[in-house]
Amino acid sequence: VPELPEVETYARDLAAALVGRAFTGARTTWPRQMPSLAPAEFDARLRGQRVLSVGRRGKYLVFRLETDWLLVHLKMSGRFAIATPTAPADPLAHTILALDDGSELRFHDPRKFGRLYLTAQPHEILGRLGPDALSATTSLRLFADRLAARRRRLKPLLLDQTVVAGIGNIYADESLWRARLHPLGRADRISPPEVERLYWAVRWVLGRAIALRGTSLTRGGYRDLDGRTGRMRQALAVYGRTGKPCPRCGRAIDRLIVAGRGTHVCLTCQPPPAPDGNEPPRR
Ligand SMILES: [Zn+2]
Repeated sequence: VPELPEVETYARDLAAALVGRAFTGARTTWPRQMPSLAPAEFDARLRGQRVLSVGRRGKYLVFRLETDWLLVHLKMSGRFAIATPTAPADPLAHTILALDDGSELRFHDPRKFGRLYLTAQPHEILGRLGPDALSATTSLRLFADRLAARRRRLKPLLLDQTVVAGIGNIYADESLWRARLHPLGRADRISPPEVERLYWAVRWVLGRAIALRGTSLTRGGYRDLDGRTGRMRQALAVYGRTGKPCPRCGRAIDRLIVAGRGTHVCLTCQPPPAPDGNEPPRR
């Protein structure tokens, strides 16, 4: 599932490929992929709009066009590819945006949960997001305030896009391990040095993942714009490494379920929080 580093990799590659190009239309065989407009309206409105920039906010790709914004959420399995008109059709590219040089920006999405919004009011969608997990404007102070205001456990809090935007299951586990914090620790009870460790861990993990061009877990999983896999999987410390040694201390990595999500921890490096009567049973 694409998270901030995979979306950032797309944003950079798409900016290099598309800035200055204009869209000449859109078509879809899965209209639910365009929830903001009917497909014919989407097509008419997109036509002729030049791409001014491509960026990212949380896990959204943000295309700044001449009069609108194109916002894309990749959800479970969305991927982009740029194809020449003579390239073989991709039956899993349900939505296709045509470009003025004759090529196509194909949105390949086997699970069909991905969404494209064409809107003049991007804040209606992006305004719900918390501060971006990697933006330079997201200071330690702001991050600490977001956490301290909530009497919730660390992992579900990190996954909540309205608290901090961009982190999903893989990078939540990696960040908590790097910060030596248990996923069930309470956000309003960790100490200031622990909050600071978590803040820097999140940034380090996301930055490393971007440098390695994201995590590709499965055969059908994330690929970049050119169809290449990311190299972060081989650099993961805990995620997907159940039973393998912790890179820091050698203990076998445990797998727990936290907030319904498979969660990977080293119980030596990340001791469970002390029970206080309100804690759920420890594993
Ligand atoms: Zn360890």
